[in-house]
Amino acid sequence: MVIAAESDSVLRQRAWDAAAAVVDPEIPVLTIADLGVLREVDVKDGRVEIAITPTYSGCPAMNMIAVEIALALENAGFAEAKVRTVLSPAWTTDWMSQEGRRKLAAYGIAPPRAASSRRALFGVQQVGCPRCRSEETELLSEFGSTACKALWRCKSCREPFDYFKCH
Ligand SMILES: [Zn+2]
Repeated sequence: MVIAAESDSVLRQRAWDAAAAVVDPEIPVLTIADLGVLREVDVKDGRVEIAITPTYSGCPAMNMIAVEIALALENAGFAEAKVRTVLSPAWTTDWMSQEGRRKLAAYGIAPPRAASSRRALFGVQQVGCPRCRSEETELLSEFGSTACKALWRCKSCREPFDYFKCH
């Protein structure tokens, strides 16, 4: 019995779904699709090639993500998937999906402010508290629990929180 070969577009969707479900090792509530790190999935003659753009060059989590993607694709039946890193155009926090921002806030990390926001234009960085939404916050340390996060504290509820600052 001959099973008809699946078309490249069906395979592409399946490969995309498998890759898109891979989570950021530092922030496990965010998938690489939420982050905007997953750029392209190509299928040619049944072979999969994935393009990713790292959140910032030198982010150690990115090597891990490439390995996780290859593994996820292998589990989905794509044995020889290739993961390609695309550095240009550079990733910005604007690529993070609304769903990703919502999940980040629910996880207790202040999501990145849009680069086009009025405050960013004037070079003033103010970050809202992910717990009580107060704007009365202060920067405690540029370096939070990982290189991608800064440590802030809310003056209203007095709780410290992480701010996602990679860009
Ligand atoms: Zn607060």
